[in-house]
Amino acid sequence: MFMTYLEWLLAVLQQTLADLQSVQKRVSIWYLVSAFIVAVVFYAWRYPGKLKPQLIQLFSPSVWWHRSARHDYVIFFFNRFVMALLSPRLPSGVLLTTWLYYQSQNWFPYSVELSLPTAYVIALFTLCYFLLDDFSRFYLHRMLHKWPVLWAFHRVHHSAKVLTPMTVFRTHPVEGVLFFLRSALVQAICITFFVSLFPGQVSLYTVWGVSVFTFVFNVLGANLRHSHVVLSYGRWEKWLISPAQHQRHHSSAIEDYDCNFGVVLALWDRWFGSWKQADWRQKLVFGTNTRFDSKGLFAMYVEPFQYALESLKRRLFSKMPAIIMILVSTTSLFYAN
Ligand SMILES: [Zn+2]
Ligand SMILES: [Zn+2]
Repeated sequence: MFMTYLEWLLAVLQQTLADLQSVQKRVSIWYLVSAFIVAVVFYAWRYPGKLKPQLIQLFSPSVWWHRSARHDYVIFFFNRFVMALLSPRLPSGVLLTTWLYYQSQNWFPYSVELSLPTAYVIALFTLCYFLLDDFSRFYLHRMLHKWPVLWAFHRVHHSAKVLTPMTVFRTHPVEGVLFFLRSALVQAICITFFVSLFPGQVSLYTVWGVSVFTFVFNVLGANLRHSHVVLSYGRWEKWLISPAQHQRHHSSAIEDYDCNFGVVLALWDRWFGSWKQADWRQKLVFGTNTRFDSKGLFAMYVEPFQYALESLKRRLFSKMPAIIMILVSTTSLFYAN
């Protein structure tokens, strides 16, 4: 029994280390190297003649060994074990796709098959998948901020006082489950829709097994979003969310609350009125500005459940008059008949 448990722990640990070398994972050694190159080019351009002090600051132990950063490392490993336990019990993308595909055959028994050259189908599928994936990330992230019951969990990510690429993993497992289900749902919807219209032609344009859009996003420094490199895209921020814009999303200043929820495209934030431009000279303080920022690891995992429950209770009480009204009118209707 003990040996089986130990073997499982070692297998998860081995997979975690393998993922750190895989181009399919956002925080892999390869994307960290490319992010570093992007940072060097940016510093050389913005701080001519001061590259060395900037690089010293980039690797400062006051960031990488800050209490908040040390929490990020522990959360990363702990969440790997939690998700290894939970994910086999959750509906996977393949399962959800198979279910949705067969259900769609019942819902729409009249098959409509379109004819397009395979290269066009692959390009269209790659683009649609990217758009739906990016929008769903934006929308779920927005919900995590707007719904108090979800914010209770997402505040773990925002309680980071310093940002390192590992901060992307500083999430409560409830948030991890929500993003897992989101990913499975997007996969199911996109594949079902395209396979129904273009059977036998659906595939993704990939680079080393990664969608071409994800690959470009990661190579161009996605990991700088969680860093102190204030890389702004200037006018391009209207179209693409820059690392500096995500850093503004992490700012504890009231005027920066609930802005820049997007991952790649800035369009969604502009449409929903949450888009804010960044400035490469911005000086930000990160965190939620509450006592939660200084909590220990145990509290970070447990307290969100308490907050979520309290927020649900408050919501239920605020709706109580309406619930009583509905109950009274239903009962009186029942007796009147
Ligand atoms: Zn957020
Ligand atoms: Zn973040």
